[in-house]
Amino acid sequence: MSSPQKTAILSVYDKTGLLDLAKGLAQNGVRLLASGGTAKLIREAGMDVQDVSAITHAPEMLAGRVKTLHPAVHAGILARNLASDEKDLAEQNIDKVDYVVCNLYPFKDTVAKINVTIAEAVEEIDIGGVTLLRAAAKNHARVTILSDPNDYAGFLDELNKGEVSEESRKLYALKAFEHTADYDAAISEFFRKKYAGDGVQQLTLRYGANPHQKPAQAYVKSGVLPFKVLGGSPGYINLLDALNSWALVKELKEALGLPAAASFKHVSPAGAAVGIPLSDVEKKLCFVEDIEGIDQSPLAQAYARARGADRMSSFGDWISLSDKVDLPTAKIISREVSDGVIAPGYDADALEILKKKKGGRYTVLQMDPAYEPASTETRQVYGITLSQGRNDVKIDAKAFSRVITPANHELPKQALIDLTVATIALKYTQSNSVCYAKNGQVIGLGAGQQSRIHCTRLAGDKADNWWFRQHPKIFEFKWKKGTKRPDKSNAIDLYVSGQVPEKDQNGGMERELYESVFEEVPQELTPEERKEWRSKLTDVAVSSDAFFPFVDNVFRAASSGAKYIAAPGGSVNDKAVHEAAEKCGIVFVEQETRLFHH
Ligand code: 5GP
Repeated sequence: MSSPQKTAILSVYDKTGLLDLAKGLAQNGVRLLASGGTAKLIREAGMDVQDVSAITHAPEMLAGRVKTLHPAVHAGILARNLASDEKDLAEQNIDKVDYVVCNLYPFKDTVAKINVTIAEAVEEIDIGGVTLLRAAAKNHARVTILSDPNDYAGFLDELNKGEVSEESRKLYALKAFEHTADYDAAISEFFRKKYAGDGVQQLTLRYGANPHQKPAQAYVKSGVLPFKVLGGSPGYINLLDALNSWALVKELKEALGLPAAASFKHVSPAGAAVGIPLSDVEKKLCFVEDIEGIDQSPLAQAYARARGADRMSSFGDWISLSDKVDLPTAKIISREVSDGVIAPGYDADALEILKKKKGGRYTVLQMDPAYEPASTETRQVYGITLSQGRNDVKIDAKAFSRVITPANHELPKQALIDLTVATIALKYTQSNSVCYAKNGQVIGLGAGQQSRIHCTRLAGDKADNWWFRQHPKIFEFKWKKGTKRPDKSNAIDLYVSGQVPEKDQNGGMERELYESVFEEVPQELTPEERKEWRSKLTDVAVSSDAFFPFVDNVFRAASSGAKYIAAPGGSVNDKAVHEAAEKCGIVFVEQETRLFHH
């Protein structure tokens, strides 16, 4: 039996604006039904209101756990204007409900309190309210659901004019769905920490990007975290590095079929490489000539190369390894300054060494190699959620099949390896970015520059640095006994980049510091020696994460031995860029996918 009088059910925890709303409803002849506390307040204000039990004929039970949960309420809300629904209601003597006003128990406020118990939190899990909201929002074609006191005034304006528009009902329904979703998310978050914290599904982090950014955590919304903490405790930036670098090495290994390694700093690779045997010079360059077993371990070779690309930037790196970590690899890591490592597994002897690092605080993560991230990724910036399809484009030899110049040129295998290494590295480098690669490794990477030529120069300068670190004179340096590896790296860096301090520079202190690491201060390279050595750097592969807007990039790459360039097209200067490459004797490949990364 449906009554011509409209009915509202009110059940609110936050009673802001309730009395004005109740008054407005009553003035429009609406019958008011309310749950315990809500009814009490309205009644005390002198208005006519019935308890929900007037239609359920059941009392509120279990200390409020059951208040509005009853077919008389929910059939009244959910019924459509259909003959069959009307018949069902009539048979049960239930009236339709037209307006539902509901907001939920303050779960978030309760669990935000320090030392809240599970029992306290459980009592704040609203059941009937969620059901009211969801039922009314579901049936918004007929029912109006108010879940936000800020909407009461606008609602009454419409009601006073006759009826609530379909447009408003839709927006109120959306808000109700969001209210319950937000509420459920808060409940899951609480129980995730309680029942699946400690790195199972959720991991509490000491702080975010900076020590004052608290609280901080990592979690997945379902299942378990794809990594286990075997040692130390990862920080927020560690995880940004770990997850990005893992994606990089996994992809590199899949593309080239060789073990891969990356050395990350601030969410960009300082180096990345695949396992290709090192020459004696390369071993010295990478400070690994004394590592036993390196010739038998492609993984150790890959990390030696990744760490050796830009030793200055790799200081305190996050390491990522595509394969189970063996002893030679752990030995290299053990004596470098590093923040942590992620790998799919560890040999027992390797793990033992790593766990001892940093006085036992070295962070060791074990990654599930079968883990596949969701195809959509989401993050928040300044309170706004941004979401996008994950960059799951595959970079392999096929990506370099469109050779523009010279016509019909076939890329040699090593060039394909190097272009793949450079391009996959860029896929996980903050943009803009340009990468130079050779011998299966990054040799210079320019990250996060707003101008492309600045990337190309930065990466080129780093490639030069890498090359000059192999100059025979470097290996003749007479180090003072006990000089630490980072101090050696600093001195070599000043030397090869031509920035050896003048004797009187900064009161002579800087020069003194520089000289203090040597038994015998080395002669600096002459311009002629530099020119001659530079001319020997050849067969370098260069990749860019987006097109080159001007020809200067090609010329800069050529100065650091570029023989192959891969870059997307799309610039008005494409033709000029191709012509410049041809003039410099560079093979130019149009790599079709732009690879910005942020
Ligand atoms: P009142 O102050 O009116 O007694 O209670 C209002 C609160 O009860 C609202 O936050 C509403 O979401 C919640 N509520 C309504 N029905 C039920 C129910 O059947 N069970 C539970 N646990 N909460 C309900």
